[in-house]
Amino acid sequence: MASSSSTVNPFETAKQQVDIVADLIGLDKGVREVLKHPKRELTVNFPVQMDDGTYRVYTGYRVQYNMARGPTKGGIRFHPQVTLDEVRALAAWMTWKCAVVNIPYGGAKGGVICDPKHMSKNELERLTRRYASEISMMIGPEIDIPAPDVYTDSQTMAWIMDTYSMQKGYSVPGVVTGKPISLGGSQGRGEATGRGCAYVIREAAKDLGLKVKGASVAVQGFGNAGSVAANLLFDEQGAKIVAASDSRGGIYKADGFNPHALEEHKAKTGSVVGFPGSKPMSNEELLAAKVDILVPAALENQITKKNADKIQAKIVGEAANGPTLPEADTVLYEKKIAVMPDVLANAGGVTVSYFEWAQDIQGYYWSLDEVNQRLERVMVQSYNDVHKVAQERKVHHRTAAYVVAIQRVVDAMRLRGTYP
Ligand code: NAD
Repeated sequence: MASSSSTVNPFETAKQQVDIVADLIGLDKGVREVLKHPKRELTVNFPVQMDDGTYRVYTGYRVQYNMARGPTKGGIRFHPQVTLDEVRALAAWMTWKCAVVNIPYGGAKGGVICDPKHMSKNELERLTRRYASEISMMIGPEIDIPAPDVYTDSQTMAWIMDTYSMQKGYSVPGVVTGKPISLGGSQGRGEATGRGCAYVIREAAKDLGLKVKGASVAVQGFGNAGSVAANLLFDEQGAKIVAASDSRGGIYKADGFNPHALEEHKAKTGSVVGFPGSKPMSNEELLAAKVDILVPAALENQITKKNADKIQAKIVGEAANGPTLPEADTVLYEKKIAVMPDVLANAGGVTVSYFEWAQDIQGYYWSLDEVNQRLERVMVQSYNDVHKVAQERKVHHRTAAYVVAIQRVVDAMRLRGTYP
């Protein structure tokens, strides 16, 4: 997934979002200013030896946005277009996401400007270990806990865990989440985002009086989050999956299909395109398809002012980060489409990351059933908290989620007071 290539500075957007909610809940100027500044940020420039023996200098960042509610949490992104402002914005969004699902974390994010597609595994390992070493003074299970993001994965986390542990002289599994299970990763982490999204859609449907059993579903981006959401809506809730897409194109089958069969087709051929019995469908057609539930699970900026009035779904469950632009939110709200915002609908991932950290610290690991039951409790409670505010304040669920989150962060800040 590419970093945002839009010309909009994401940190400006993040600050505007704070202002909107601050106006709504009447926050004073001082508190607003705190919420619009990252608490701590580190820039590191470090050399990495390439396979041909030459050295290159890479730049990386780690931003800890707000730690009023606990240690900070957030992924590490390897991408050529990483900027400090992007990392700041992502760190702010992590702060709100952790607060929406009420897990005891603040928000952080990290990134290295690099092009992993053109680096060997050994080069990536050296880059990861050196970056981990450079930021090691500000990470740790009680300080800041990184996780995978764009172009980083469980192997990257294993290298960071090992580098940090070598410096300490003992194993510290709780320093990162998203690790392989054999190194202290959690059961259920791989499918947590899609699973959490399916729970939120189920709860939203109940409130709308929509039966998920037999309801039609379109999934944009049949990858990790999207395929899991489709499988669970199909397996556990009896939904009819009618459309799906990936970067190569989309497919449609009016009477529905088994998403597991589509997964197999994609595993064999590399794409959903050409799935037996289906018709091709463009990205624009998929978004505008006559379905009950739309799951954007691919890229940011997909639902815009231009296409928002064409959306026919009753529920939009944002598995992806940032798929809907703010101007489109208003259009969808006026059309009475219930948009379950990313900070709620895809927070299953960070929730099970929190479970992973809790298990690592206890040194006691839970079964898949325990993980899923606890995830369900968190997602249902978080949906209810957000829905209640949406009803009370007559705002859409994204604004409601921000109100819940920012209020929780501000409450923690006020209780702690200002040092000295
Ligand atoms: P992924 O790479 O597994 O899947 C993304 C899918 O989107 C792929 O199938 C890709 O082919 C498809 N895609 C790319 N461009 C497309 C386009 N133009 N049209 C249609 N499909 C396109 O990634 P993922 O982990 O499933 O992440 C997807 C989204 O969910 C991202 O926005 C990510 O930030 C968000 N998210 C993921 C997690 C997680 O735990 N995986 C957690 C929170 C948020």
